[in-house]
Amino acid sequence: LTKQKAEKVIGWSKNHYLSSCLLPSVKGERLCIPRESLEIAISRLKGQENISQKPSQNLKNLAKDEFESNFISAVVPPGEIGVKFDDIGALENVKKALNELVILPMRRPELFSRGNLLRPCKGILLFGPPGTGKTLLAKALATEAGANFISITGSTLTSKWFGDAEKLTKALFSFASKLSPVIIFVDEVDSLLGARGGAFEHEATRRMRNEFMAAWDGLRSKENQRILILGATNRPFDLDDAVIRRLPRRIYVDLPDAENRMKILRIFLAQENLDPNFEYDKLANLTEGYSGSDLKNLCVAAAYRPVQELIEEENIAQGGTNSTTTVLRPLNLDDFIQSKSKVGPSVAYDATSMNELRKWNEMYGEGG
Ligand code: ADP
Repeated sequence: LTKQKAEKVIGWSKNHYLSSCLLPSVKGERLCIPRESLEIAISRLKGQENISQKPSQNLKNLAKDEFESNFISAVVPPGEIGVKFDDIGALENVKKALNELVILPMRRPELFSRGNLLRPCKGILLFGPPGTGKTLLAKALATEAGANFISITGSTLTSKWFGDAEKLTKALFSFASKLSPVIIFVDEVDSLLGARGGAFEHEATRRMRNEFMAAWDGLRSKENQRILILGATNRPFDLDDAVIRRLPRRIYVDLPDAENRMKILRIFLAQENLDPNFEYDKLANLTEGYSGSDLKNLCVAAAYRPVQELIEEENIAQGGTNSTTTVLRPLNLDDFIQSKSKVGPSVAYDATSMNELRKWNEMYGEGG
């Protein structure tokens, strides 16, 4: 295939998909790509191009009825998600596992289409304390896998459309199958599919859950559909066995230790004006028990201090000379130490909950 021909067929120069999914060897102007891979790439590129050029128009055409139309605004094409793996500090093992389980099969489906051993995974659970980056990982995963992203919670399917929860659930799956490759992110999966409510469970909720499970099973039996259900929860112990079984890979997203807190802090503070002697390791050691989200809040609180000082100085100078300055002083370690009293580690996750999570990880998780 010559470069010009590739350009003609799929807009080679504009599109990075071909290079990233096929890793072609470029010899001069000639690209060496297996025909089978090229066909997959062409069909994928056509889909991707349509979706990213005119997202709402295109999705509107895809939605077959009012139920499917409800999900149009929930779909984010991969190019518009805006989060990549590099934006996530630490969690290297999690990223590595997701690369093997999701990114590779979605980008290189031809490698997973034969035999029984290498089958794309259709259900993954991310579990761990709140604020550890599960949602962030889900979004970045869709970007890296070149997949459309649909995020749903319990209320997407129940609250507003209570009577129609079952139909809406069916529509979610039928609509998603037209957007393949797609990741359906179910945040707080325990609240949507948690342990059954026994005799007091609402009939509509029970039917919605059954429909969800049935549609999910239908999806699992279709090997070539690139749809992944990615669940996230802080309370995996509330999930019943039927759900756990359908999420065969369960990945623990733990609180960061000192070394990992340092990596996360480096990402947050990369663009900031820091004191040249700023000691990341000291700050990492001072923030035991902080989640990624807590660290972010701490950084925001600390970054506010030089601004506050400047405003105060300006107020004092008012009426005097015009010597107000707009140059902020660099951030130093003391700004963070002072801010710790305002932004502590999330209290919601006490030692008992952490123990429960770790035990669940030992029983059901990958132990990571
Ligand atoms: P969870 O879904 O686990 O409750 P989120 O993914 O919603 O947590 O994280 C909340 C915010 O915390 C993110 O938007 C991000 O700003 C920050 N955050 C958490 N963990 C990380 C991390 N490992 N790297 C970078 N930012 C993080």
